[in-house]
Amino acid sequence: MSTLLVKNARVLVTMDGDRREIASGGFFARDGVIEQVGTSVDLPDTADEVFDASGLLVLPGLINTHHHIYQTLTRTYPPAQNVGLFSWLRALYPVWANLTPDAVRTSTTLGLLEMAKSGVTTVFDHQYLWPNGSRVDDQIDAAGQVGVRFHASRGSMSLSEKDGGLPPDSVVQTETEILDDCVRVIDAFHDPNPGAMTRVVVAPCSPFSVSEALMVESAALARDKGVRLHTHLAETKDEEEYTIENFGKRPVHYAEALGWLGDDVWFAHAVFIDEQESAQMAETSTGVAHCPNSNMVISSGIAPIARYLSQGVPVGLGVDGSASNDASNLLQDARQAMMLQHLSVAPGIGEGAALPTRQFLEIATIGGARVLGRDDIGSLEVGKRADFFTLDLNRIEFAGSHDPVAAALLCGPVPARDVYVEGNTVISGYAHRSIDEGTLAEAHRAEAAKLVGG
Ligand SMILES: [Zn+2]
Repeated sequence: MSTLLVKNARVLVTMDGDRREIASGGFFARDGVIEQVGTSVDLPDTADEVFDASGLLVLPGLINTHHHIYQTLTRTYPPAQNVGLFSWLRALYPVWANLTPDAVRTSTTLGLLEMAKSGVTTVFDHQYLWPNGSRVDDQIDAAGQVGVRFHASRGSMSLSEKDGGLPPDSVVQTETEILDDCVRVIDAFHDPNPGAMTRVVVAPCSPFSVSEALMVESAALARDKGVRLHTHLAETKDEEEYTIENFGKRPVHYAEALGWLGDDVWFAHAVFIDEQESAQMAETSTGVAHCPNSNMVISSGIAPIARYLSQGVPVGLGVDGSASNDASNLLQDARQAMMLQHLSVAPGIGEGAALPTRQFLEIATIGGARVLGRDDIGSLEVGKRADFFTLDLNRIEFAGSHDPVAAALLCGPVPARDVYVEGNTVISGYAHRSIDEGTLAEAHRAEAAKLVGG
């Protein structure tokens, strides 16, 4: 048994049903589960660990719902700069074909640490190519070292250039190999229990990089095993047109035909989705991982987030791959989501109203939890896990601010000062509990050089 008392926060943002923000707030947790939340004077006097949050904003840990962490190894790769999605992929696939188990392990450690530094406590990563013996196991080992909750994907690609797809033969696998390994990884690592540190998601790269049969079989397998389903959908205009031309259906109708709608499914991007399609997503509780930085960098488009929220589509945030962002900072993506949505209603661009700043913190926390199918995280309230991060309101970036909660996005992003998962320290005073950043960055630079060198 161990207890944690967080007290004296300048403001504690709960994200509970009433969206309470508690001045001089805190909470008391036992074994990683919150037992009391309130003003500091109403909480127990002491605990095994007492965290004095004076001068700090305390927020629920952020939840990342889409990434390809291995791409931290190909950030700013010159041939992939300033081009659209298909050219970007063609430039990068041959490089990613050199990925090794060590490269996967090192990049996962670095990417998870980078996200934790922006306040992230739960990460979904969508890795869909496994060349040269690399495995999901490599990522799960790395996540344990960093200390964040990790939702790994057993992603896949089965169609290569010879089948009319984009990737080279060396990065695709047979459908039998893919399905067998999905079963292995789910049986070995998926934890369905509350407080789980590791879950597994079945995640073909996109409906165009695997066969229709594999999409259908992946859904059947995931439902049989009780795990979630994820893929890219309607990221670009080209993709929308391709779906209509080749399958005679709009993207969501095509997903429906494959058995890919439901409260256990979420799509990355969903930029080109019409009103009728999003109504169907809302009705089936099919979620979206909104990735604003990526959508801007590769000129994909603006996802209709205000419409999704008004219709009741579950919306979370994702940093997306580090080669199209190129950062892994979810607080920055929450800020960018806000700015992009505000721009989307400017005269000459679109219509509607700018959503409030807090809505984007909501998407990044409780919204992400819903998208990942978790009711044990995303808010700081009784019964939830003690996952949180702090921002130091005494930093110069916040000086003169009159609203410390809105400041997290409007004045940000600044790094998280402290990060806790399940009531345990991950980052304290800007430093990770065990990983030396300089050594890790050096190892990562070496892997990145090897990857590009072939
Ligand atoms: Zn992606």
